[in-house]
Amino acid sequence: MSKNIFITRKIPDIGIKMLINKGYSVDINPKDEVLSQKQIIKYLKKKNYDAVLSLLTDKIDSKVYDSAPSVKLYANYATGFDNLDLNEAKKRGIIITNAPGDLTSEAVAEHTIALMFALAARIVEADEFVRQKKYKGWEPMNFIGEDILGKTLGLIGAGRIGERVAFYSKGLGLKIVYYDVNRNEKIEKEYGAIYCNTVDEILKQSDVISLHVPLLDSTRHLINEERLKMMKPTSFLINTSRGPIVDEIALEKALRIKVISGAGLDVFEFEPKITKGLLKLQNIILTPHIASASVEARNQMAEVAAQNVIDFFENGKPKNQVN
Ligand code: NAD
Repeated sequence: MSKNIFITRKIPDIGIKMLINKGYSVDINPKDEVLSQKQIIKYLKKKNYDAVLSLLTDKIDSKVYDSAPSVKLYANYATGFDNLDLNEAKKRGIIITNAPGDLTSEAVAEHTIALMFALAARIVEADEFVRQKKYKGWEPMNFIGEDILGKTLGLIGAGRIGERVAFYSKGLGLKIVYYDVNRNEKIEKEYGAIYCNTVDEILKQSDVISLHVPLLDSTRHLINEERLKMMKPTSFLINTSRGPIVDEIALEKALRIKVISGAGLDVFEFEPKITKGLLKLQNIILTPHIASASVEARNQMAEVAAQNVIDFFENGKPKNQVN
């Protein structure tokens, strides 16, 4: 029997084609914009959908589940899945999947490294300086930055993405220390990473802190005012994981009064809103949640999400079930 699938916003064609080729009936939100929860519910009430391919910008909780009792699978087009209420889904026998992949980890790791170099070499500030026609000739003391070689990288979270960041960091001559609730033997053996027992130990000794944990109750505001004060005044904080892992109001203050030297954020606590004051600071680089936005990664995410839908219908066992 044909299956009805709703996709909350257009994703790369490769995933959509996989579903259509299986003979499923696929409806896609016709507007290329985020749907509010009310709009999602309105769409889901139009038909008896069997599965939804959701995005990280969709807030999916009991209200959505109850409005569409025929939907038995929410396949998220993202590595993270904090936009869905897993417990409420489980209570209703609904399956949730995410869409991790080696190419997503690669894209996010490369973006992390790009932020690290952009901070150290002050690329964005310098670009702005030239555009404002302030460049009058070479100066001995203009935009003095930092070298990366020999510095210490503190990884918080050493799963798929953290591991890939460790791979590049080793190649770039950084010393690596890390904290994770689970040890990662690969990065210890292959990249010489040293395990620390606490987040605090990492913060005190690192020149660059990079966050790669999922958003959970245990990681919300993992970096708060107190912990920012533990970091070296010369250090950088990079967050390409999820916004609420950092207390953004505390970060704005820490950057303004130079508790730390700089920050690179791809994700924001109240996104798409940005905490007041951050935009005025020179010592922060902001990217609009694009760390996985490479052609390769986004195509793979579409394939993984679609394959989860197909596996769910064909054998009831999608590879990336998370609840
Ligand atoms: P992963 O599950 O492979 O790794 C996460 C690691 O965090 C695991 O090793 C886990 O043990 C560890 N962890 C969990 N709770 C912890 C805690 N309280 N303290 C310390 N460590 C803890 O996930 P991943 O693929 O590496 O992705 C990490 C996160 O990156 C995702 O959850 C997602 O939110 C985010 N992400 C962001 C983008 C982006 O576009 N910016 C893209 C992909 C993923």
